[in-house]
Amino acid sequence: MSEQQLEQAIDTLRDSGVRITPQRHAVLEYLLKAPVHPTADEIYKALEGKFPNMSVATVYNNLRVLREIGLVRELTYGDSSSRFDSNTTDHYHIICDKCGKIVDFHYPVLDEVESLAEQVTGFDVSHHRMEIYGKCEKCQETATPTPSH
Ligand SMILES: [Zn+2]
Ligand SMILES: [Zn+2]
Repeated sequence: MSEQQLEQAIDTLRDSGVRITPQRHAVLEYLLKAPVHPTADEIYKALEGKFPNMSVATVYNNLRVLREIGLVRELTYGDSSSRFDSNTTDHYHIICDKCGKIVDFHYPVLDEVESLAEQVTGFDVSHHRMEIYGKCEKCQETATPTPSH
């Protein structure tokens, strides 16, 4: 994350007339720094030392405000809790089957799939989601049996 990104995000908040509380600032900063699409719980755990009076509800509330302004995206996968992404440009995700880690990767947006789906089904297509699954590097390491001494 560059300081500039954070400053831009703060500007966006200010322009939207949203009050920038220290907690809101910290949640935003954490999201911009975290490469792993944290859950609200993870953000709470990471920041509770700094803000002992902060509750999980406050974190959720801040995330909702940031989402409404368009600074973060909420990602829902199945029935697990939402994850939050500060990268709001078009990108895809690869998800670890084992630890649930989500990593961004870029690939040209598959517009053709949308127009084909529209033609074939007559739907008015709004968007699509694509996720790739596998095992992250860390989980591959732990899966390898350790050589005996
Ligand atoms: Zn993993
Ligand atoms: Zn992402």
